[in-house]
Amino acid sequence: MPDAEQLYAVLSVGGGVEVVALSVLEQRCAAGRQGIILAGADDLPEELFEPLRQSVHDGAAQTEGTGVWAPEVNDPCDATFGSSLSAAEGERLLVRLCEGRADTSRALRTLALARSAADLRDLEASGYDERGPRSSVPWPVWDGLLAMEQLRLGPFAPVSDDRWSSGSGLPVGVLASVQAYTSDAAGRFEGRAHSPGCAHRRPEPGVGRYDEMVTIEELMGNQGFDPCSKCGGYAVRRLTDAQVAYYRAAHRLHAVARLVGSLPRRRTLSSEDVTRALHELDDLNACTDAAWFPAREQAHQWRRRAGDLGRELQKLNADAPGT
Ligand SMILES: [Zn+2]
Ligand SMILES: [Zn+2]
Repeated sequence: MPDAEQLYAVLSVGGGVEVVALSVLEQRCAAGRQGIILAGADDLPEELFEPLRQSVHDGAAQTEGTGVWAPEVNDPCDATFGSSLSAAEGERLLVRLCEGRADTSRALRTLALARSAADLRDLEASGYDERGPRSSVPWPVWDGLLAMEQLRLGPFAPVSDDRWSSGSGLPVGVLASVQAYTSDAAGRFEGRAHSPGCAHRRPEPGVGRYDEMVTIEELMGNQGFDPCSKCGGYAVRRLTDAQVAYYRAAHRLHAVARLVGSLPRRRTLSSEDVTRALHELDDLNACTDAAWFPAREQAHQWRRRAGDLGRELQKLNADAPGT
């Protein structure tokens, strides 16, 4: 029997195309709002998701014995740095988490629709039915939509004299608009802020209607944000490929800056790798500029920083004895 409790793509004259839970649809109908249903999650054809399922299964077979969760990567020189935050990783994770579940297809269809929801809080169904709390979103879908981890923001913090804690003053660029979901974005409520994935929070998985949504840029400015030490305080909406690429590049440049800053005078940095990395990071093309920096000034800021580091490195190597 078809289950009406699912996500719907709807169209209304006033709201355009939106993705909403059944309970939201019910509320709107009750309020007399006019619109049409374009498709429910169950209307999406199964074949659409076959290539994805196949590639995840092939990947899992190759790495048999490893866990569902990808190992943590801390070195920005590693090409997979940051990919745990990506939308692609969300798809992979969802398929793996659904192994053995009957509703894998429903989960994949739900993810495909939920992707285009402007605000994930609209996906939470309200109320109860005979099965308990209503839900239009199978729980693995939340891991497909959100990375239950935080961005490391060191590269974007201001430069300071303390070389251990100094940031690199890089522009936040295309990461500024990344959404963060938290129980308390600015320390207004009692207790610490929690991520939707935190066990210290309500028992239902995923984003709830009382959660707060802020952008990473807003969160960086919130002095009162007081995160739980277990969950880190927020989860991020999964990143696009361009956002992951910029995140990694910023961490690479930050690593170079720390290396150059930590070199004692009169010691040469005999690393061609660093020079090559720096050149690569300085020499961006117009496509990368457009993808990474919404404002032209941010691209200038990036190049200034990379150029400064290159000159510093040259000077250090020229001053070193034996050269
Ligand atoms: Zn927590
Ligand atoms: Zn906690």
